Amino acid sequence: MPAPVADLVLTGARVIDPETGLDGVRAVGITGGAITSVGEVAPPAREVWDVAGQVLAPGFIDLHSHAQSTTGLRLQALDGVTTALELEAGVLPVAGAYARAEAEGRPVNFGFSASWTDARMHVLDGVPLVADASLDLFATHQSLPNWRGPASDRDVGRILDLLADAVGEGALGIGVLVGYAPDSGRAEYFRLAGLAARLGVPTFTRTRYISTAEPGTSLEGALEVIAAAAGTGAHMHMCHVNSTSTRMIDEVAGAIDAARVGGVSVSTEAYPYGAGSTVIGAAFLAPEQLPRLGIGPRQLTYLPTGERVADDRRLAELRATDPGGGVVVHFLDEEDPADLAVLERSFTLADTAIATDAMPLVASGGKPLVASGGAAAPDTWPPPPGLVTHPRSAGSYARTLRWLVRERGLLSLTEALRRSSLLPAQILEGAVPAMRRKGRVQVGADADLVVFDPDTVTDHATYTQVAPSSGFRHVLVAGTPVVRDGELRTDVLPGRAVRSGTV
Ligand SMILES: [Zn+2]
Repeated sequence: MPAPVADLVLTGARVIDPETGLDGVRAVGITGGAITSVGEVAPPAREVWDVAGQVLAPGFIDLHSHAQSTTGLRLQALDGVTTALELEAGVLPVAGAYARAEAEGRPVNFGFSASWTDARMHVLDGVPLVADASLDLFATHQSLPNWRGPASDRDVGRILDLLADAVGEGALGIGVLVGYAPDSGRAEYFRLAGLAARLGVPTFTRTRYISTAEPGTSLEGALEVIAAAAGTGAHMHMCHVNSTSTRMIDEVAGAIDAARVGGVSVSTEAYPYGAGSTVIGAAFLAPEQLPRLGIGPRQLTYLPTGERVADDRRLAELRATDPGGGVVVHFLDEEDPADLAVLERSFTLADTAIATDAMPLVASGGKPLVASGGAAAPDTWPPPPGLVTHPRSAGSYARTLRWLVRERGLLSLTEALRRSSLLPAQILEGAVPAMRRKGRVQVGADADLVVFDPDTVTDHATYTQVAPSSGFRHVLVAGTPVVRDGELRTDVLPGRAVRSGTV
């Protein structure tokens, strides 16, 4: 019987599959959006691409992307991303967010968690949850008075009911920005973990504190997550351990390592930059809080104007006039060897996924790009000039391959690929069976693939300029190239929804 004819076969690449340990030259056949062969002999195919000299690996799965505009996701595709999930902040209502993304189309696969902060803003401050949910809700309503504080027992019940309903709609877990509501109750957080355990989904926490000053240290914030996992059995995922642990990374990493040895379900992620990014109205950026972070106003760059914030008075003014405005926070100085060692420790912590925390693009004048409806700036390709965002939004994976693998030798190529693809799939697959088909170059897996040159792949985004990565020759989503010969294709939107509980 003749071998079936594949839609496409990629020949000559060094194929790396982190799960099976395959690392050798193979031909990879793709049919109907799935991988249908991985072998030394190429099957007959309608189309053959010679990719000799390149590495072929599973496409990157970003657990932490707030860049949910078409332009933002295209920048991520050029960085090797084939699945970009909004899990830390999340959205409400979840069904509406999926419906909107499916109606508009997305260049890469997408999925959402249920947003605890949105639920709190709704229950405690009366913010309406509009049907076509977007991530803008969190930034827009920063300054409302009640959502950061303690909630009554009855209100906690209402918040948790909203989250349970959202998981029923396919949310991939519960996003918990507890660091933005540091005065919310410990009991509420613990009850939320109990809910996640009962529903069988993970939580994705931005921990309660960033500080080395007692009380309220980064370690205390991390221990709350570990204790909730230990005390409820929930799978608790800790977002960006690099930026929330900063100079307490040794203590935090030690606690996580020991908890895991004891069977506690805590997973972690990090991004390879010394600066963070958030909204300038965040509780932890209040002028009186900055010394706790070991920084002053000058370590803040207000993105809409590009200014370094001059002093406490200017910071207070910006927080009052534009609390949802984007800001880059220079926690660690990448030029300082001691700070660099702190940052690198996040990547020697075992089983820490690479996740970007990609941020929305901000146009001059400070309006974020949104996917549709009330668009403040055109969501077009190439990105309009003058846009700004944290470079992690466009360069995290290429920077990992250039800097952590090629230049620092901190991770092997296979380990970096594992942390960018298989590991995030494994973090989710207990709750999301669809992730068992991602993060692998194996027969039956989704054909979400990257083909790149390991010697030249590199990031170009900086703190002052948005620029795509280069070196990713082909990026395929469900078998469809969104990047072909290094060029973004704007005529295809092959991204598919990823939901919990569906096979
Ligand atoms: Zn984030």
